[in-house]
Amino acid sequence: MKLTEMKQILATGQIQLTKSLGQNFLHDQNQLRRIVDSAELSPTDQVLEIGPGLGPLTELLVARAGHVLAIEMDRRLVDFLLGHFAAQTNLTLLHDDALAYLVREPRDWADWKLVANLPYSVASPILVELAEATNPPRRLTITLQLEVAKRLVAIADEEDYGVLSLLIQLAYEPVSNFKIPSDCFFPPPDVDSACVTLQRRAAPLLPPELRPAFKRLVKLGFSQRRKMMLKLLKASWPLEKLQAAFETLGLSPQIRAEKVSLLQFVELTKILEHP
Ligand code: SAM
Repeated sequence: MKLTEMKQILATGQIQLTKSLGQNFLHDQNQLRRIVDSAELSPTDQVLEIGPGLGPLTELLVARAGHVLAIEMDRRLVDFLLGHFAAQTNLTLLHDDALAYLVREPRDWADWKLVANLPYSVASPILVELAEATNPPRRLTITLQLEVAKRLVAIADEEDYGVLSLLIQLAYEPVSNFKIPSDCFFPPPDVDSACVTLQRRAAPLLPPELRPAFKRLVKLGFSQRRKMMLKLLKASWPLEKLQAAFETLGLSPQIRAEKVSLLQFVELTKILEHP
């Protein structure tokens, strides 16, 4: 879908774009193709698309995947898409708030791939919701603000490393990413974007029953970035247990959360939750 076509559809439907819904539509054909290539789609794949907008990505997804489930919150866009894709048999369109849908209707996403140019305001909660699902999607290829993309792939000691990096990387390994300049979108957003691909880990790092404790540990550890992690964790675990666990893992009692790697957080969770 070219920019002129997009503008024409919006004008014909008298659709004024809504900034709060992150309505910046991707019209650059090269970037759209790179996104779909990163998803490594095959004709048997089931794809979840969140926020299809006017459908520039959807067009490529239905051509390459087995089935596409697209969830769009804006009624005006859903009405357009229903007409535009009326003859498409491998597309299911839902009019819903995708985050509410994911929370309300948990399902087995294990055989699915997420490919989406995400609405920026809800990108992080949507990704966390999917990563924490009992059976998360096997691959995520998502376009979002560069600043959030950096947090998704950051490792310990990097500036962007934090709660989001750890919650996502517990389930996923970053595979690739590339920048998308803001002039590839209409209207251009204030910030640059990036497309990130993450692959679900072959084996989970933690069993499901320990994941809530991992999340508690990470959130508490990063609750005050400049403070020593051990002091912050005292709110949730006994001091002696914490000291013994830090010693076992060779972590200094003075260490701050930003220096602690994903695998160290995983091991710490196992030790602290061991009865
Ligand atoms: N995929 C299209 C593209 O690449 O041009 C549109 C992407 S645009 C960044 C985000 C889309 O998500 C918009 O169409 C917006 O209406 C929709 N949206 C915003 N919040 C949503 C939500 N909570 N659930 C589903 N769709 C949402």
